[in-house]
Amino acid sequence: MTKREQLYEGKAKKVFATDDPELLIVSYKDDATAFNGLKKGTIAGKGVINNEMSNLLMQRLEKAGVPTHYVEELNERETLVKKVSIVPLEVIVRNIAAGSFSKRYGVDEGVVFDSPTVEFSYKNDELGDPLINEYHALALKLATAEEIDTIKKYAFAVNDFLKAFWAECGVTLVDFKLEFGRLADGTIVLADEISPDTCRLWDSKTGEKLDKDRFRRDLGGVEDAYAEVMKRLSEHV
Ligand code: ADP
Ligand code: UDP
Repeated sequence: MTKREQLYEGKAKKVFATDDPELLIVSYKDDATAFNGLKKGTIAGKGVINNEMSNLLMQRLEKAGVPTHYVEELNERETLVKKVSIVPLEVIVRNIAAGSFSKRYGVDEGVVFDSPTVEFSYKNDELGDPLINEYHALALKLATAEEIDTIKKYAFAVNDFLKAFWAECGVTLVDFKLEFGRLADGTIVLADEISPDTCRLWDSKTGEKLDKDRFRRDLGGVEDAYAEVMKRLSEHV
């Protein structure tokens, strides 16, 4: 597959056209940002880890019945994916209180929920990705009611799979963000990435944070944390 022009450069990835109008190449960078781009840095080796981890997890999710954009890993930083029109919603699933949930509702980090929650943010950098509800998403024509139902169904299926998978690796899945897109025929598939940039992952025994919170909160050992979760995942696939 020939790589053509760069279509987009985001905060963590670049996106390239290919010979095939229905396929794209995503290239994972080591750049890290937080707080809507206010904090910037580099996490050495992150791009390689996020590419490999996302691809391994998406392949497993396909087998578990969740359609994804994944096609083929091309090299350690680049992957061929199905081109989608991204539904501009960040879909956040939570099993345990942390981050913005804890702040917004005044709940200690670490409080375990009886059942998982789902929420949506409007994916819009200028507005700072504001939290929205399903009625707002419909009013803004971001997705149809049927698409939102499909997205919620897949988001909880992803949670069921990932929670069990990470538990086998000695890692607790706290929360994560997903993005979905539409293929040319309108089919909804899971897109973007699943990585320590987009998930909160805590060591099941010690509670140590093994994700991007180490970068966001200046906890140190960022590269080591990414390498550790990747190592645990590799030992379990
Ligand atoms: P951001 O845009 O938030 O800075 P990234 O740096 O990760 O994020 O850039 C990757 C971009 O590619 C994101 O905007 C994401 O929504 C988009 N994207 C992810 N998967 C696909 C896909 N299969 N087809 C089209 N766009 C995609
Ligand atoms: N998340 C993400 N991208 C975003 C916002 C959140 O990947 O733009 C992930 C984040 O890594 C965490 C989950 O979504 O795993 C929930 O994040 P939260 O709403 O608590 O926001 P934060 O504390 O990161 O501001």
